[in-house]
Amino acid sequence: MVLSVKEKKWMDSVIKEEEVRRYMDGEYDFIDDEEIWSKLLSNRSPDKKRIEDILQKSLAIETLTPDETAALLNVEDPELWDEIFRVAGEVKKKVYDNRIVTFAPLYCSNYCVNNCLYCGFRRENLREKRRKLSLEEVKEETKVLAGEIGHKRLIVVYGEHPLSDARYIADTIEAIYSVKVPTRNGFGQIRRVNVNAAPMSIDNLRLLRDVGIGTYQVFQETYSHELYAKVHPEGTIKHDYRWRLYCMHRALEAGIDDVAIGVLFGLYDWRFEVMGLLYHARELEKRFDGIGPHTISFPRLMPAAEAPFVQETRYKVSDEDFKRLVAVLRLAVPYTGLILTARETADIRRQLIPLGITQTDASTKIGIGAYSENYDEQEIERQQFIIGDPRSLDEVIRELAEMGYITSFCTAGYRCGRTGDRIMKLLRSGKEGRFCKLNAILTFREWLDDFASEQTRHIGEQIIEKEIEEVKMQVPENYSETVFNELLKYYERIKNGERDLYF
Ligand code: SAM
Ligand code: SF4
Repeated sequence: MVLSVKEKKWMDSVIKEEEVRRYMDGEYDFIDDEEIWSKLLSNRSPDKKRIEDILQKSLAIETLTPDETAALLNVEDPELWDEIFRVAGEVKKKVYDNRIVTFAPLYCSNYCVNNCLYCGFRRENLREKRRKLSLEEVKEETKVLAGEIGHKRLIVVYGEHPLSDARYIADTIEAIYSVKVPTRNGFGQIRRVNVNAAPMSIDNLRLLRDVGIGTYQVFQETYSHELYAKVHPEGTIKHDYRWRLYCMHRALEAGIDDVAIGVLFGLYDWRFEVMGLLYHARELEKRFDGIGPHTISFPRLMPAAEAPFVQETRYKVSDEDFKRLVAVLRLAVPYTGLILTARETADIRRQLIPLGITQTDASTKIGIGAYSENYDEQEIERQQFIIGDPRSLDEVIRELAEMGYITSFCTAGYRCGRTGDRIMKLLRSGKEGRFCKLNAILTFREWLDDFASEQTRHIGEQIIEKEIEEVKMQVPENYSETVFNELLKYYERIKNGERDLYF
């Protein structure tokens, strides 16, 4: 696809060099490839005692150092890995208890001026059917997601293009929040819109902040400077490693409280990439008063149309290594949310969730317009890649309940100002869990009444009873008698059709 003059002109206006330079250390950014390799080398063959000490530090909800993380990544003994997996689950429980949050992606536009060698939206993929949803179409998609399936959170996704610029993104967010749909017993509404879109300037990020963006998510794809330049060809905006690397600095400066990072695993050495994520988290903590990434994502490379690097890569991540990298991330940045997507099969998801996952998507469709136009078949010409787990939200929630997890639809934290440094403090001290436990009970009750199948409602109710019992047991240590009684009252009101009550 040849770029038009208008597209070229727009591309030239995107990157603001000054908004990169101001955070840099002279000529250097905070990823030193050689330093990462030397840490991985110098921490080889760690002894058991050292690993056990590191695990204790994670259990105290402290971010690990690069040396400690490198030591974990170098463990070879399978028994020690089992111990690492076990402690990863324990850290998750300590910070987030048995809660899982669910969401759905909503793809709004697949126009893209970039040419990333692994992505079906790249501009040289002429097979891709390009489409941008109108605001009416965005509302139609939202009606299905919020009114039929029962989602409360979305991640909206866009290619990088003048047709899907910051103004369009802001308009789609507003369109989504405006939709309110009657349901069996109440109403459905999206209460949090997270965004996955290209890096933006501080002014454009302010635009998103002003319409109530949830988390701003951008994946670095790979932290290797060399490979980054290769898979994001010259002459594209995305070729600029540092414009991307510092976009979370800009977002925090623009007043977006929750930022999310990630790597596209399979492009480069997985151990190196985990180190890159850790350096990124530590850099944000250092610069922004302890605020690290709200979540970390670890998508694995999936088949995509006309995406040569998917075949070419030497770094595909095996299922076993995938488990290891998720567990190490859990331990290295213990307070962060970890997002597992429907790129992965149901079987892999089952194995990974106990290692510390906090969020996952369900009823996922990634074709543009796929929810309201109801096409179920995956069509490679209409989507970015092929997903591995198309199960419905009802099925996923039922399985989670069978595994002992309660699905939380709580979005109260953000609406009560529990974001940014406030949420970080609560997470590190384990106190966030107290509010969340109550809100999980209330929002799960709502969802069961409005959307669940009989079978799911049955098992869901058992989980709720158990949760209420647990809260009761924690009176008066963690909850006052008044709060417990309030919970019971709210619970009854929700059963009678009231919605959106929270602590
Ligand atoms: N265009 C924006 C950007 O590049 O930042 C928005 C993101 S893109 C639509 C969403 C994410 O999908 C990318 O950041 C990348 O990590 C992931 N992705 C791209 N191609 C993929 C593939 N073949 N398999 C799995 N994930 C892929
Ligand atoms: Fe465009 Fe993003 Fe795909 Fe790259 S990853 S081609 S920027 S949509």
